[in-house]
Amino acid sequence: MCKDSNLTTLEALKCRIRDLEKQLSRGDRYKCLICMDCYTIPLTSIQCWHVHCEECWLRTLGAKKLCPQCNTITSPGDLRRVYL
Ligand SMILES: [Zn+2]
Ligand SMILES: [Zn+2]
Repeated sequence: MCKDSNLTTLEALKCRIRDLEKQLSRGDRYKCLICMDCYTIPLTSIQCWHVHCEECWLRTLGAKKLCPQCNTITSPGDLRRVYL
């Protein structure tokens, strides 16, 4: 019987992994870390190559000229449109 319960745990784990893979393939990874929303207009900085949505970049750069993720000095001129 011990063997059976091990098997069940393994199956449960496999199920969990499948769920996670499904989440990834749905595109959840393309979410802006700042506003936790899907990108509408994703922009990357040529300084650190982090991607955030345009709104978050401009809001952050309006207050201080730093990447909101890694604090690399960034100006609005360093931003480039990306197509994911
Ligand atoms: Zn955002
Ligand atoms: Zn950065």
